[in-house]
Parts: sequence; C-alpha cells; structure tokens
Amino acid sequence: MLKGKLALVTGSTSGIGLGIAEALASQGANIVLNGFGDPADIERLRKTVSSQHGVNVHYEAADLTKTEEIEALIARIVASHGSVDILVNNAGIQHVAPVERFSAERWDAVIALNLSSAFHATRCVIPGMRARNWGRIINIASAHGLVASAEKAAYVAAKHGIVGLTKVVALETATTGITCNAICPGWVLTALVQKQIDARAAQGGITVEQAKVALLSEKQPSHEFVTTEQIGEMAVFLCSPAANQVRGAAWAIDGGWTAQ
Ligand code: NAD
Repeated sequence: MLKGKLALVTGSTSGIGLGIAEALASQGANIVLNGFGDPADIERLRKTVSSQHGVNVHYEAADLTKTEEIEALIARIVASHGSVDILVNNAGIQHVAPVERFSAERWDAVIALNLSSAFHATRCVIPGMRARNWGRIINIASAHGLVASAEKAAYVAAKHGIVGLTKVVALETATTGITCNAICPGWVLTALVQKQIDARAAQGGITVEQAKVALLSEKQPSHEFVTTEQIGEMAVFLCSPAANQVRGAAWAIDGGWTAQ
C-alpha cells in the first residue's frame, strides 16, 4: 500500500516510534529512523527493518530539541530521497515533578521535544506535500493530550498543545491530499514508562511487577498495556485511502482511559 513512499518517524530507535516504523515498512514504505542510542544497536536495527521488509532504511541522528537540526534533517532527506511523504512526530520525553518544583530547564526540554519539534518538522515538510498533493502527518500525542494527571505539567501541556496543532494543520490542508491526525495512546510498556514504574516501585517499597499493576489499574480500565504493534496498525490505517477524510482527529487507543 505504501510502496515508494518515504516515511520519517522521529524517535524511532525504540518503543512506539520503532513499532510505527516497522508497521509502515511492512506496507512497503522506505523509512528514515531517528533517535538516540548505541550506534552499533541502531545499525543492527536499521539492517533488520530493511531486510525484514525489503525496503530502504536510513538513519538520521538529529537532536530534535534543536530547530536548526530539524530544518537540516528535512532538507537532507528531501535532497537525497526527493520527499517526505509521511511524517510521524513521535519523539518525546517525560519529566515528573509537582509544578512548584518543576525546573525551568526540564519544562523547556519537554516542550521543545514533545511540542515544538512537531511544529518545526511539520512546517518544513508541508511545501513538498502540497507540491505532490499527498501527505500524511501523524502526531503521537497521548491520553495526556485529552486529560491531565498530576505532576506532569510540561508533558500534559505539550500533549494538549500537539492536539491543537494537529487540528490547525488539518484545517489548513483540508482541501488537499494531505491529512494531519493525532494518536493518543494510554500506557505502553516502553523505556519511557518503565522509568515511571521503577520510580513507583522504589517510592512505594513494592516490586516492579506490583508497580506495573498499580500503574495500570489507576488509569487504564482494561488493565492491559497498549502495544506498539497496535499503534503501528493505527498509523497504517491513517496512511490508507480509507482515512482520506479523517482530518484533525485525536484518536484514543488507551484501554478505556479517557472514556472515564
Ligand atoms: P521511548 O523512550 O521508548 O522512545 C523515545 C524516542 O525518542 C527514542 O527513540 C529516543 O531516542 C528519542 N529521542 C529522545 N530525545 C530525542 C531528541 N532530543 N531528538 C530525537 N529523538 C529523541 O518512549 P515511547 O514511550 O516510545 O514514546 C514515544 C512517544 O509516544 C512520545 O512522544 C511519548 O510521549 C508518546 N507516548 C508514550 C506512551 C507510553 O505509555 N509509552 C503513551 C502515550 C504517548
């Protein structure tokens, strides 16, 4: 379905981004991976995704908290591959602290990566998408784009912000072949969440397994983690012709979290 399309998935060296990159590759899209990690591990990942799906996979190390690195990244991809057809704004970090002890430096870092990087990447890819009259922009928001939790001021602000950005971009491209939507996952067992589980176990003097159960039962009625594969399949659907009129949506995939 996506043969010949080029997908840039930010923050795709692990977790949800990697799941989405694999799902898009399984549909024939060529992939640009991005994110941090051990160079040898990333090279292994690049080769595996490429050989498993028979697509070209390229890796770009850009730090997306830096506007000039985002601009240079998109310019490089356009110069070498011709286009960015699918942009998945996924890279994200978390910081947990009460608002009065939330450092300005952590606030800036979370907003820069979880919100501003999506704006910069989007504004850089839209001219090419308009020229071809086709494009897919998928923003990985969160259940925290729709509802809040205590001690996550920057994350919740950024995720609500990206849902707003999604709607604006969808309206500005509504009469074109470009769509922009957000996916709002609940808990997914990735490195980002494992850190929160470990902190909970340490603070509560409970096992990691008990902390996992506590985390799920507090917010996620299904008591099961969402998987990266399920999110990948949702992204594939948003890239399909069946989703041509899905515009500006913020789709929950959260085990019932935001139904409460
Ligand atoms: P993760 O920590 O596994 O992956 C984050 C990715 O971002 C990694 O590839 C990392 O290298 C990359 N990254 C970090 N800083 C970067 C930077 N400055 N520049 C470029 N890349 C950078 O986390 P994840 O859980 O897969 O999270 C991915 C996205 O999904 C995030 O936006 C997160 O907010 C969102 N999300 C996660 C969950 C969850 O439960 N895990 C739920 C809802 C939304």
